[in-house]
Amino acid sequence: MTGTFNYEKDADNIVTVTMDMTGPVNAMNEEYVKLMGETVDRLEAEKDSIAGVVLTSAKSTFFAGGDIKSMLTIETKEDVQNMFDMNLLIKSQIRRLEKLGKPVVAAINGAALGGGYEICLACHHRVALDSKAVQVGLPEVSLGLLPGGGGIVRLVNKLGAERAVMPLLEGTRFNAQKALKSELVEELATDADDMMAKAKAWIKANPEACNPWDVKGYKIPGGNITRPNISQLIQGANPMLFQKTRGLIPAAVKILDVVSSALRVDFDTAQIMETRAFASLLTEPTAKNLMTFFLQMNQVNGGGSRPKGIEKSKVKKVGVLGAGMMGQGIAYVSAMAGIEVVLKDISQDAADKGKAYTEGLLKKRIEKGRMTEEKAAGVLGLINATADADALEGCDLIIEAVFENVDLKHNITKELEPKLAENGVWGSNTSTLPITLLAEPSVKPENFIGIHFFSPVDKMPLVEIIVGEKTSDETLARAFDYSQQIKKTPIVVNDSRGFFTSRVFSTYIDEGGLLIEEGLDPIVIENLGRAIGMPVGPLAVQDEVSQQLTVKANETNKELDERLGHEFAKDNAGYRLAKKMMENDRAGRFHGGGYYEYPKDGEKYIWPEVYNWYYNKDVSLPVQDIKDRLLFRQIIESLRCFEEGVMNNVADSNIGSVMGIGFPPHTGGVFQFINTYGVKAFAERLQELTEKYGERFTPTQMLLDKAEKGELFM
Ligand code: NAD
Repeated sequence: MTGTFNYEKDADNIVTVTMDMTGPVNAMNEEYVKLMGETVDRLEAEKDSIAGVVLTSAKSTFFAGGDIKSMLTIETKEDVQNMFDMNLLIKSQIRRLEKLGKPVVAAINGAALGGGYEICLACHHRVALDSKAVQVGLPEVSLGLLPGGGGIVRLVNKLGAERAVMPLLEGTRFNAQKALKSELVEELATDADDMMAKAKAWIKANPEACNPWDVKGYKIPGGNITRPNISQLIQGANPMLFQKTRGLIPAAVKILDVVSSALRVDFDTAQIMETRAFASLLTEPTAKNLMTFFLQMNQVNGGGSRPKGIEKSKVKKVGVLGAGMMGQGIAYVSAMAGIEVVLKDISQDAADKGKAYTEGLLKKRIEKGRMTEEKAAGVLGLINATADADALEGCDLIIEAVFENVDLKHNITKELEPKLAENGVWGSNTSTLPITLLAEPSVKPENFIGIHFFSPVDKMPLVEIIVGEKTSDETLARAFDYSQQIKKTPIVVNDSRGFFTSRVFSTYIDEGGLLIEEGLDPIVIENLGRAIGMPVGPLAVQDEVSQQLTVKANETNKELDERLGHEFAKDNAGYRLAKKMMENDRAGRFHGGGYYEYPKDGEKYIWPEVYNWYYNKDVSLPVQDIKDRLLFRQIIESLRCFEEGVMNNVADSNIGSVMGIGFPPHTGGVFQFINTYGVKAFAERLQELTEKYGERFTPTQMLLDKAEKGELFM
């Protein structure tokens, strides 16, 4: 099948162009250039006999934007030149449509993001369906790119710099209502017929339409760069941007550059400058990383790690055991997805407290206008807070989130598993305990699985699913489906202590501890942690997790090792320091303070005693070494997880690292980082670090093998 831009003229001489390209979506590729070229040729040729044009789509989305797979193949100067030329061609076609001399209306029936919205911007009027399917915006920055189809220049011309800057820098996606409010579209329609009728009515009412920037004397709203407040805005945006991205996202800087160009030079020159900036980003490592991340995200969400051939399932009634910090969040996200929830704790009071958490979150949603009272009441009504075990009868899924204790978890499994519906699934939200061990008392260990949430559950987008030795494929598929039902991204890992995320995460804290013990200034450690792109420094992270939890987790590990007859080998700096802090009443932020003091009315600062313990002003290490140590420990641990079979594939590891533990997003994740660094170069650098700092940096066998074969982590 080949795609078409279906061209149909009605009795009023209005042409409807319906984009219907090969494949599931309309996208900017060679086929598009051909089809758009032919369409514009014909429109120009028949211009005198037409009243106007409605541009719409035959797909469920309007237009998907650039072709990421082909952009990922761009390597050489010639590739970039080709893309530069193609981009100018795409722009010239859109510009011809814009200057047709007849009104052109975009009838936006579904998502129009990136290139799709850039086409809409060139039209003279935009009517969107008032539907959840509609999303508009220019999210290119999230791919490490910039809107190169005229999007920056037109948005600045349309809205003015002040209102265009943030959506461009943040890549904001607008739903239909927000798009209307923010003037990204001009009209909403109730259904497809209404949309077409409104588009055609506008054409009839505006026979001479052209875009305002093509009218002589047009002034950009708010003024151009000669206005002091506008030039201040641009100047002020630069440091703000640096503070936010720490200079790690070149696309954002370039976007700001092009905004400023659009405020300085004429429309057509600005368009060329936009294309130049766009082309310069195509070979940027961050663009490659973020585009790869996007594709891997689709792979993960598309069920890459879900066992094949098992029918999709839906949970109707979920039991949540333990209404503490995690249980209350699990109850909330489940109820929000329309699932009936039984939230059980040891007392009615404790269960009610857990339900009150949902009430609080719903109240905030109502206040922000994000939910009606009626809908919120419906969600709250789905949660049955109780201390009565019988209420669990018939749950198709029970998730336990009680204290991290093997015996307790064993006991409640024995007691409550019989309440499950026929073939129901038992999930444990344990952060570290092996699922196979927890499944021991289960009468159906094939239905037993780890469903590891992250805190706070309502905000964190990831779920780590842990497959025990006896867990069946069907159970895995059902846990996967539930995760998607509650709108989380599931990664799948095999059973091991700490699984993937907790294991990798703890190395960051550990390396921070080692640097402290070596005598480095805590502030230097913290700043360099942030400079590599981690959300916060390792000491701040430790305070958030709490020293208490670190100590507890390590002690549980010790106990477990005794139980399993293993030798406890985890005498890590993280544990050592956390213990010492605890002994000094510094159990973490929640407990009143840790590495930091947290004054009520001021910024946190390092607890002075930390300096007395270890700091040695004579110690100094190369900055790059410190940065690499903090980042590479996490990568080495991920490599070990991969080699030990805890991780099954690269995509899950990359997505899990960024979404679960805040590994710097611009790297594309733990393994994509190695690809960009160079596999061989990375192995060599690890060797250097091993010689300087110890065996924990030893390159793993898989890394060495890949380095030798010249293979990437794909
Ligand atoms: P929490 O202490 O906040 O809550 C535990 C709740 O379980 C309490 O309300 C307690 O009353 C209840 N409980 C105890 N015994 C019970 C029983 N027999 N029946 C019903 N309820 C019972 O703990 P939390 O932080 O929510 O952690 C719960 C689990 O989630 C642990 O296994 C923990 O390792 C795991 N986890 C925690 C985090 C985190 O960041 N806190 C993250 C991921 C996983």
